[in-house]
Amino acid sequence: AKEDGRNTHRFFETDMGTAVNERRELITDLRHAIANDELEIYFQPQYSLESHTVSGFEALVRWDHPKRGMVPPMEFIPLAEDTGLIVPLGEWVLNEACRLAAGWPDHLRVAVNLSPRQLRGHGFGPVLIGALAKSGLRADRLELEVTESVLLIESEEILDALHQAKTLGVKVSMDDFGTGYSSLSYLRRFPFDKIKIDQSFVRSMAYSDESVSIVKAVIDLAKNLKMTTTAEGVETELLLEMLKDIGCTDAQGYFLGHPMPVSQMQDLIYACGDK
Ligand code: C2E
Ligand code: CA
Ligand code: CA
Ligand code: CA
Repeated sequence: AKEDGRNTHRFFETDMGTAVNERRELITDLRHAIANDELEIYFQPQYSLESHTVSGFEALVRWDHPKRGMVPPMEFIPLAEDTGLIVPLGEWVLNEACRLAAGWPDHLRVAVNLSPRQLRGHGFGPVLIGALAKSGLRADRLELEVTESVLLIESEEILDALHQAKTLGVKVSMDDFGTGYSSLSYLRRFPFDKIKIDQSFVRSMAYSDESVSIVKAVIDLAKNLKMTTTAEGVETELLLEMLKDIGCTDAQGYFLGHPMPVSQMQDLIYACGDK
């Protein structure tokens, strides 16, 4: 039995070792990927429910790993956050998203996701100003999406960075609204332009009247605070109709369009035309 125990122990160690090595390898690969153009941005359309037209696109990063294929963000964003690689990665996404969006009809916006770590220190202001200057993108065509975890860190630096963005004319959205601990108090701490209602609430509207009431309450609250609302994860026409009925301003989801590579956007961008 003693022997068994030791074998089990050894086996476990080896297993852990493999996981650690694998993680280390992925970190090395990610560092390389940022420097060598292996990252790519997919764009998912967002629709205005009032005009029934595309209002903009959310930039969603993808990693085309030479051996592993497409690695989803959920597998490398947390790693990038832990190691600090999110700072150069995020800067790359911001620059690239602004550069590409500058070529779209000028009523279309681009939304970029930010991790808390990108906003700490005093590096973000210059990065943001640089991205706008290099691309020539009008500031009000850029939206920064932050989750409430960004405000969870009681930090003057972070609030300053977000206020600086607003002063430049950049829009700021609260992402994944409703999933955290105390979303409501964050609405008081920072003047967001937009609330993105989390997919979990949107999806459950199909079978739960309570969820419909909650989403409607969020939309009414946002209206009173002069914020717009984007429903995420809209996968059916029924959901789209329900959201329109309760006054949601914008929607995003597979029913309206999947995230797509730039090479597949041409027709949609063309159809948006100049307004
Ligand atoms: P998110 O910001 O909440 O982005 C929405 C996610 O939902 C995207 O997943 C999108 O593909 C997916 N989605 C959109 N419509 C639907 C739908 O109708 N049904 C379902 N089931 N899913 C839908 P994705 O691209 O895998 O990104 C996952 C998360 O990774 C994002 O969640 C965001 O938190 C993070 N992320 C992506 N790109 C970046 C980035 O450039 N920087 C940072 N910091 N985080 C990023
Ligand atoms: Ca987002
Ligand atoms: Ca979201
Ligand atoms: Ca999310």
